[in-house]
Order: sequence, then structure tokens, then C-alpha cells
Amino acid sequence: MVATTKPHLADRINALAESQTLEMAKKARELKAKGFDVISLNLGEPDFQTPDHIKEAAKKAIDEGFTFYTPVAGIPDLRKAIAEKLVRENGLTDMKAENIVISTGAKQSLVNVLMCLVNKGDEVVIFAPYWVSYYEMVKLAEGVPVVVKGLAENEYKVTAEQLRAAITPRTKAIMYSSPCNPTGAVFSEQELTEIAKVVAEHDDIYVIADEIYEYINFTGKHFSIGSLPFIKDKVVTVNGFSKGFAMTGWRAGYIAAPKWLADACDKMQGQVTSGTCSITQKAALAAVTGDLTPTKKMSEAYQRRRDLIKKLLDEVPHVKANYPQGAFYIFPDVSYYFGKKYENYHIKTSYDLCIYLLNEAHVSIVDGEGFGEPNCVRISSAASDENITEAVRRIKVALAKLS
Ligand code: PMP
Ligand code: GLU
Repeated sequence: MVATTKPHLADRINALAESQTLEMAKKARELKAKGFDVISLNLGEPDFQTPDHIKEAAKKAIDEGFTFYTPVAGIPDLRKAIAEKLVRENGLTDMKAENIVISTGAKQSLVNVLMCLVNKGDEVVIFAPYWVSYYEMVKLAEGVPVVVKGLAENEYKVTAEQLRAAITPRTKAIMYSSPCNPTGAVFSEQELTEIAKVVAEHDDIYVIADEIYEYINFTGKHFSIGSLPFIKDKVVTVNGFSKGFAMTGWRAGYIAAPKWLADACDKMQGQVTSGTCSITQKAALAAVTGDLTPTKKMSEAYQRRRDLIKKLLDEVPHVKANYPQGAFYIFPDVSYYFGKKYENYHIKTSYDLCIYLLNEAHVSIVDGEGFGEPNCVRISSAASDENITEAVRRIKVALAKLS
């Protein structure tokens, strides 16, 4: 993660690295604009349309003139519907509308929480491999990111023992995603219970549980750490609509948190963006109260594609692909190719490899450095079978040229 320093800019922005996912997406777009046939497997973005009943709710909101500022934390019926969903589906038994704050995507939800919880110098334990933005968000809040790495042999999942060893008197929070971006790993109930026990040993440590891939889970069971009674008052559950409902562009995410923290996020957001788009909130209401069949169908497609990309990558020499249990990414170890060369390319890092694959194979993927695991690359499988098959074919040909 490289931060570029520019004179006249504040230290805070100079210290911030550009989002790796967005950077690779930008590079792919630039190459496409020059007329190259680039297959983009960089952004974690569903390739499906938002389900019709959600679109209809948005159209209705426009037609009915629902186009004004909303309360900062969201419209009351959406906050209530989300609270009810969390009780019904996730076992977060105490949730009420007052615990919910809706934001312009889970990205903003996460920033709100960190800005409201973390003091300068407070440590935030981030389970690695992690979603790119966690690290920089903690820095933005003047916290200290403490990275704890899950081992490949444990599906890259951090254990309770590893967490215990990382906690210091300055630890304020831990954060992870399950299903995980970028590995697709899913924490089981037992694993999260063990982690929760470690957190519960300390008074002032909070859990930021990012469950945005909740509905894209191939294990058949999603577990929310906030459902454990002995820790529920210390958990912030983060979720959103981008992934499960294919609503990336609509910008809606939310937190479910203890009231004192939800109120703080409301205050924070009130000075930064106000409530998210009124029309989007009506669409989100249709999503959270509506039929989950389209969501289930999309998840089935992601599972099929997971199997396809895993099978294809297993046929590429020296690429060690993991077996994701959720989300729509695969995170293979490509370190065998470090040190290899082809023409002017000298591959030293996974970033170099991604640039090589972009230019040579016209396939855009994201390096593992930004996710805290420099031996790997992240490939999104939220793409058609044809694109996945062709992309892996091109990757195989390009890798074979390296020696
Ligand atoms: N958390 C994770 C793990 C993600 O992959 C994403 C994807 N952007 C987000 C949060 C943020 O999602 P959004 O802001 O689109 O709701
Ligand atoms: N979460 C997606 C990803 O990891 C979207 C891009 C982003 O917001 O960084 O690719």
C-alpha cells in the first residue's frame, strides 16, 4: 500500500493509500478505453441486475415525490424493518429501530463507527487477509492498525489464541468480515464463540463484524457474533445491500449497534453526509422486507462459479487456489512466480504480477498486498462463466511465459 505525498495536502490524506480495488479498476478502464478487450475481475461487484421488486419501489418513491432529506439515521420504517430482520434472521434479539443507522454504503458505516470509537493511538486488531479499506480507515481515525494474519492451512482464519496474543491495553476494537473479502472464508459459530470469549475478557474492546456477504454463504449457515448473549453489548454488526441484493450503485449500508454508539454515528453522519438517498431507502425497504428468492438464485450462481474458477485455477501450474466458502472471490497464492521474468517484465511482487497480467493477458485482478497477504492475488468470480473461463485461460498462457 503506497501513499503518494503531494505538497499542500494535509498529512492525513498524504498518509492515505489509494484503494487497491478501485486503482486496479481504474487501470482496467483506461486500457479498455484504448480499445483493448479487458476482462475485469477486479471489483467486488455483482454482475446481476438489482431485482425488479426493488427497482419498482424506487420508481414508486420518485413518482410519489419522496425526494426530500430524510432523518440522518434513516427513515423510521427502514430502521424498524432492519431491526426486525436482525432479530428474525440473525438472532440479535434486542435490536430496535434506535440501534440502526443507515449510511451511504457499508463503507461509510465502517468509517462512522471507527471515527466514533477510536481515539488517537488506540489499536484496532484487523484480521488478515482483510478488505483493503479497513487498514486505511483505521489510520484515518488516527488509530493504529494491528494486523493478525490467519494461516493458509486454517483457510486464512484468525484463531482465538492468535487474537488473545495480539490484545494490549490499547486495544479498542477488532474487525473482520465473514464471509470474508478477499478469501471467502466463513467463521463457524464455534470459532466466533471462542473469539467472543477472548473479547469478553476485556472491558473496553468492541467487535466490528462486517457481514455484508451474509447471503453469499455456501456453508448453509451464517452466524452473527452479535447473537451471543455474553457479548452482544460490545458488537457492531455492519451490513448492506450492495452484495446480497446487487445494489452497489444505490449506496445503502447500515450498522446495528448499542444505542450510545448508534447515536454517535448519527451525530457524525449529520455533519458529513446526512441521510442516504431517500429513493434508495425505499428500495432498501423493499429489499429487506421482500422475497429473498432472487438473492438465493444469485448466491447459487456464485457458488457454481466458485466451483468453476476453482477447477480451472487448479489446472494452472504453481497457482495454489483456496476453496472459498462464501462471497465471490478466490484468493490464490501466486508466489511461485515472484522473481520470474518475461521481456521487460520482472515480477517481484503480486502487484507486479497483476500489472503484467493486465498488460499481457488483458485480465484485471487485484494484488494481495492491499489485503494484507502479499503472496496472493484476488480474483472476483462475479462474472459470466465465459469470462471466467477465458480469463483463466489467458492467465495460464501469460504465466507460462514467465521464467
Ligand atoms: N465491507 C466489505 C467486506 C466489502 O467487500 C465492501 C465492498 N465494497 C464493503 C464493506 C462496502 O460496501 P458498500 O459500501 O458498497 O455497502
Ligand atoms: N468491496 C468491493 C471490493 O472489494 C468494491 C470496491 C471497493 O469498494 O473497494 O472490490
